[in-house]
This record gives sequence, C-alpha cells and structure tokens, in this order.
Amino acid sequence: MTGVARMRRPPPPFRVVTVAGTAPIGPRLTRVTLTGPGLVGFPAAEPGASVRLLLPSPGDPGLVLPDWTGNEFLRPDGSRPVLRTFTPLTGDAERGTLDLAVVRHGRGAASAWVDAATAGAPCAVSGPGRGHAVDPDARGYVLAGDESALPAIGQLLEVVPASIPVRVHVEVAAAGGRIALPAHPRAKVTWHDLDDPTDPGSRLAAAIAALDLADDERVWVAGEAASVQRIRVHLFTERGFPRARATVRGYWKRGRAGDGDDD
Ligand SMILES: Cc1cc2nc3c(=O)[nH]c(=O)nc-3n(C[C@H](O)[C@H](O)[C@H](O)COP(=O)(O)OP(=O)(O)OC[C@H]3O[C@@H](n4cnc5c(N)ncnc54)[C@H](O)[C@@H]3O)c2cc1C
Repeated sequence: MTGVARMRRPPPPFRVVTVAGTAPIGPRLTRVTLTGPGLVGFPAAEPGASVRLLLPSPGDPGLVLPDWTGNEFLRPDGSRPVLRTFTPLTGDAERGTLDLAVVRHGRGAASAWVDAATAGAPCAVSGPGRGHAVDPDARGYVLAGDESALPAIGQLLEVVPASIPVRVHVEVAAAGGRIALPAHPRAKVTWHDLDDPTDPGSRLAAAIAALDLADDERVWVAGEAASVQRIRVHLFTERGFPRARATVRGYWKRGRAGDGDDD
C-alpha cells in the first residue's frame, strides 16, 4: 500500500544524565560513567545489548530532547538529533550510574565528545535494547568483532559457561586497540591488525572464513556494516551455516555518521 506512513513503536524515553567521569580502558577506548536520578531503576541489560546516547548538537551548549514523530526522533526545530548507539556496561540501578565504553576513532561526534567530556557534561540515554541470550548447550562459541564490539565481546566472555570453548577474533584498526579481556578458562583470543584502513573488517572476514565451524556452534559477530554483510554471505550462503545459530550485526558504516545496519 502506498501513501500510508509506517508508525513505529516509540523507543524507551530518554533519561537525562551527566558525565560523572571518564577513564581510559586503552589508548583508543574510554570508559564513560554516566550518572543521574533518571538512571535509578534502569533495567538490567542482557550481554551485548544497546542504548541510544543523545548528545548536544553542534553549537548547542545544552541538551535539547527530541520528539518521537512515529518514525524517528526530531528536535523541535525539525533538525536531526545527534544519536549514537553503545553497549551498556556495568551500572548501578540503585545509585543511578551506567558505564559505556566508547572507541575514540578520531572522526565522529561521539568520539569527539568523549575526547572533550568533563564531569557534569549533559547527555541522555534511552534503552536498553535487546542483547544476546547465551546458548548454554552450544558446542562452542565464536565471538568476533572490531574495537566497537570489544565491550560486548567482554560481556559475552563473562557469561559463556566455563565448559564451552570460545574462539575470540578481534580486529584492531590502530596500535593500542588491544585491551585486556575478561578471563575465560576455555577462550583462545586472536588479535588481527587491520592493514588496509579503507577495508575495515577485512581481517575479520578472512579469520572467519578460515575457521572450521560445526553446525552446533554459536557465532556472534559485530563490526563495520559492509564487512559483516560479507560475513553473512559467507556464513549463510557459501557455507550454509544455520542462521538461527549466528548473530551478525553491523555496528557502524564506513563513511557515514550514525549506526551500522541494524541497531
Ligand atoms: C548495538 C550496537 C552497539 C554498539 N556498541 C558500541 C560500543 O560499546 N562502543 C563503541 O565505541 N561503539 C559501539 N557501537 C558503534 C557506534 O554506534 C558507532 O561506531 C558510531 O558511529 C560512533 O559514533 P561517532 O559519533 O563516534 O562516529 P560517527 O559520527 O557515527 O561517524 C563518523 C565517521 O567515523 C566513522 N566511524 C564510526 N564508528 C567508527 C569506528 N568504531 N571505527 C572507525 N571509524 C568509525 C564513520 O564511518 C564515519 O565516517 C555500537 C553500535 C551498535 C549498533
């Protein structure tokens, strides 16, 4: 049918918060602790879940909350708000705190905001969105991603049962991208250095193509949208890996501001 606007369910309301502090996790990854009464009772998230982070728009010292139009968020003046998606880390729903880990990749609004963020800086969060329900019966897990997926990979490593072997593949785009990951007794972590910055995800795709994979394993992948699309084609079309056993998510898109393909 044409001419009928599709109305989408409104996302959870924004909770206005402020930055309590930032701390380096590695040279390119920064932990941001958010705080505010609005975070009291923030729902516990599954591992690898998401929150939308609303940032002040360029030139605006304060934070203007956008309205839900039925299809997207727009500011009262009709302009698009600065919204980015991140993985909610540990929080304290009683004290009203929530941590995020943001890649400082050097170009985007969120990356620049984290570079400059000081205590008291305003922002807002909405969420959490769905995460990954770990399959306790999987024969093995493959966790793969780039630096933007490291927060989720860390969370997943913490919850995959100790009896399940886990192969972790992480692609880093620059020296200093490697960080300490949570210990897992059966995890083997392989780091890949991206050699061609114009082809993010290429080392990850090659690593996945080189894996032996049994149909009763579980695969979780997140990274640059075009590269994860290549990984989907490889897994599902070329290899015939069962779709129900794989989660493959675009977390960002090369050359475009905003999220990847399926937040
Ligand atoms: C479910 C989900 C969870 C996510 N969790 C996290 C998380 O925990 N931590 C995190 O840092 N990111 C995470 N991301 C990815 C994050 O939303 C994007 O990287 C986002 O584009 C960053 O916003 P920005 O303002 O810094 O850059 P943008 O303004 O969106 O982009 C500006 C430019 O930078 C490029 N760019 C964007 N992100 C990257 C990157 N990571 N590396 C290199 N170049 C990039 C873009 O292609 C564009 O050319 C997640 C995304 C999703 C969908």
